[in-house]
Amino acid sequence: MLDTIKKIGVLTSGGDSPGMNAAVRSVVRACAFHNIECIGIYRGYEGMIDGDFIAMDARSVKGIINKGGTILKSARSKDFRTVEGRAKAHQELKKAGIDAFVVIGGDGSFTGAMIFNQEFNFPVMGIPGTIDNDIYGTTHTLGYDTALNTVVDAIDKIRDTASSHNRLFFVEVMGRDVGHIALNAGIAGGAEEILIPEEDLGLDRLVESLRRSKKSGKSSSIVVVAEGDKIGKSVFELKDFVDQNMEGYDVRVSVLGHMQRGGSPSCFDRVLASRMGVKAVESLIGGKSNFMVGLKNDVIDLTPFDQAVKGKSKINMELLRVSDIMTT
Ligand code: ATP
Repeated sequence: MLDTIKKIGVLTSGGDSPGMNAAVRSVVRACAFHNIECIGIYRGYEGMIDGDFIAMDARSVKGIINKGGTILKSARSKDFRTVEGRAKAHQELKKAGIDAFVVIGGDGSFTGAMIFNQEFNFPVMGIPGTIDNDIYGTTHTLGYDTALNTVVDAIDKIRDTASSHNRLFFVEVMGRDVGHIALNAGIAGGAEEILIPEEDLGLDRLVESLRRSKKSGKSSSIVVVAEGDKIGKSVFELKDFVDQNMEGYDVRVSVLGHMQRGGSPSCFDRVLASRMGVKAVESLIGGKSNFMVGLKNDVIDLTPFDQAVKGKSKINMELLRVSDIMTT
């Protein structure tokens, strides 16, 4: 254990996700357990530059494990992308006596931390907080499981109205670069088709597949579309295409949007956040730096930042096959 780490800062950065509060709570309590001071940094790197800090003890994080969003607030900071901005942030951290920080965020936040570490040899550790699950080095990011449950719940509700009116619904879910949410929630919600960034189904095959499903006796259909699906059409353009090329369906669109980011974190995300926070703090006091904490085969492990940032999070191809079989 290093006795050079006496005060650890914690911040949430980039887009918020359910489970960030549970992770902040875990970092604060792990610090208290090891007799280390913990300082909350408001508004991500923006607050770091401004010295917007608050001392946090174990009791200061009571009642937040079940809350969505982040009590520390989050931000995207342009200034932190500059040498001057980062120098100011370093100055503020030193002034407050902070020896290391834990950043909870996505790959952009980790890139910022990595550069900061290179410039100032400042100990840093990352916890992946994003609903997209698009980070290499962990099977689950914080908030992903909660978002999946939110999306499945929404699909179930949409299904009720779709089946009452012989409707075909395109449901757009988050996922610009990876289709984890669409693929998993699509299978769980019994979608007839799932469109993801990793696979180009093609418009003709989509219509063909929907015709087949109608012929087999289905009176309603749900197509789950990831934001960045590879057909490359917006969900509204998909609707127009199907409207023009398929008869007998009333086609509707539902864009789930930011509701997917909100809500109380699932049990899985709360437990994951608690495990990750402890690992982040204990790794820093054990002398490690420049890593992301992740979950691999149910073990909490570390991945170097440069690998986490450069690596690609891949979808499970077995799920694609299962999804095909389920739509038979
Ligand atoms: P999300 O997955 O929700 O987008 P993220 O952490 O990837 O989360 P970004 O906006 O990409 O979100 O990054 C968060 C912050 O990290 C940025 O606002 C910026 O302050 C810092 N950051 C990102 N990239 C860099 C970089 N190349 N250099 C310095 N700082 C960076």
